Amino acid sequence: MQEKGTISIHTENIFPIIKKFLYSDHEIFLRELVSNAVDATQKIKRLASLGQYSGELGNLQVEVAFDTDKKTITISDAGIGMTAEEIKKYINQIAFSGATEFMEKFKEAKDANEIIGRFGLGFYSAFMVADKVEINTLSYQDGAESARWICDGSTEFEITEGTRTTRGTDIILHVNAENEEFLDQYKLQQILDKYAKFLPVPIKFGTKTESEEDGQDEEGKTKYKSVEVDNIINDTNPIWTKAPSELKDEDYLNFYKELYPFSEDPLFWIHLNVDYPFNLTGVLYFPKLKNDYEFQRNKIKLFSRQVFITDEVKDIVPEFLMLLHGVIDSPDIPLNVSRSFLQADGNVKKINTYITKKVADKLAELFKNDRKGYEEKWSDIGLFVKYGFISDEKFYEKAKDFVLLTNTEKQNFTLNEYKEKVSALQTDKDGQLVYLYTNNADQQHAFIQSANKKGYDVLVLDTPIDNHFVSQLEQKLEKTSLKRVDADVADKLIKKDEAPESVLTEEQTTKVKTIFDQAINKPAFKVELESLSPDELPVTVTRDEFMRRMKDMAAMGGGM
Ligand code: ADP
Ligand code: MG
Repeated sequence: MQEKGTISIHTENIFPIIKKFLYSDHEIFLRELVSNAVDATQKIKRLASLGQYSGELGNLQVEVAFDTDKKTITISDAGIGMTAEEIKKYINQIAFSGATEFMEKFKEAKDANEIIGRFGLGFYSAFMVADKVEINTLSYQDGAESARWICDGSTEFEITEGTRTTRGTDIILHVNAENEEFLDQYKLQQILDKYAKFLPVPIKFGTKTESEEDGQDEEGKTKYKSVEVDNIINDTNPIWTKAPSELKDEDYLNFYKELYPFSEDPLFWIHLNVDYPFNLTGVLYFPKLKNDYEFQRNKIKLFSRQVFITDEVKDIVPEFLMLLHGVIDSPDIPLNVSRSFLQADGNVKKINTYITKKVADKLAELFKNDRKGYEEKWSDIGLFVKYGFISDEKFYEKAKDFVLLTNTEKQNFTLNEYKEKVSALQTDKDGQLVYLYTNNADQQHAFIQSANKKGYDVLVLDTPIDNHFVSQLEQKLEKTSLKRVDADVADKLIKKDEAPESVLTEEQTTKVKTIFDQAINKPAFKVELESLSPDELPVTVTRDEFMRRMKDMAAMGGGM
């Protein structure tokens, strides 16, 4: 059997263009070819389970190998294989017709990923690193003959008899000079770890040495010997593919360690599992943040049918949950996602909403079932909750019942509880509730003390997000305002009808005030004398809200 042909395509040679446009991502050739091998393997398993294939399945593992002398990388599988006809259909026709369109469209496309995504040029990606690609395959079908396809990156291909004697396919890449870096144990291992670590079929890459029990010595001690075993690089059954009921806490913790070897244990996790209206599985972990917000971002890995795609999950995961860790797997997200794809995809919005709901439900459940445990975790989860409270209306609706306010005594309250606690004393003459807060309990110590003496409670809102949180609270809570405890004397912040009476005469007041004014000698500061009962601050120095926000304030702050 021998057949030669020319692919009908408008352009002489599309491969230089593919190479050029996809260069930044060229390691994905391995992801694409290994995924194809896994697909072919899953297909034969499926045919067998449907009774449409009665032969031996045999060892179904996929193998990746390389040869530095021959400069080849070979991906082998024992999947369904292809007949010569099928090669023409699936490799030439489909791919090449896609390529024709590709040629027409690539001019208008904004990024390379968008192109591969749209045209499914999976097999083509081989030409990013290889000048010549060979397929050597034997179909599972009765009486099939082995076929070999060779293409040197021009639009010409050749099909001849192949040499495979067992069912399956070898894809042989003749790696070109510019890409010899891929002919390297470490490099290939690294790429496989990245993309193939959780594929559902075992992937062999070389061998490794393990010690094995080897009988007993004269003293009855177990002897060991070294044996070479297949180096299987993947975990074919990652926890997100299992039912939550099969899993123990330990399994979740071990998986977390596997993903983030140097991290502390997470606080808790959420197992995602939904079939409708989209398909999605995954496990999201709440990490211990330890104020390292920036460093911790982009820790969620996105998979599609257990193939790693990206850790850029913006849009899929709501912004306020970007600090979560874990995995999301959705077959509804194609392998070659690009930013523009994600934004345009309808499922992405739904997935985003679903994740928000699951997280809110989990937090509500924790709060309800274990208030103490929830409060202990508050310093770590408070950031998520407040961020979501501010930025996501749907999350807010649930979070308003479990967001916590903490006061200077380190007591925690829900919004309702807090309202209950302070409304008697902290309602001003207009019926407005006034919540006092500090953003720096050390500097504002004297103000806090003075407020406490009057029976007022002071909240601690001192994290970077609290500025926004405070304004959100003011918007959301009815007839409530939040005042920073050092903005003015407490009695002015919470205006009552009766004015406190000073023990000083008006003349004395003016005298003392003048002394302080002169001593401070800065117009931005306001000196006030209070009703001078012995346990109160005799004099306070404050700045108005606007001035207070000026950066240079920090050094001067505090009461006198
Ligand atoms: P896709 O995987 O999205 O279909 P590809 O370009 O990666 O696109 O592959 C094109 C087709 O070639 C596949 O759909 C499959 O029919 C065939 N194919 C590729 N690799 C193999 C393989 N290892 N075994 C059997 N068929 C394969
Ligand atoms: Mg493919």
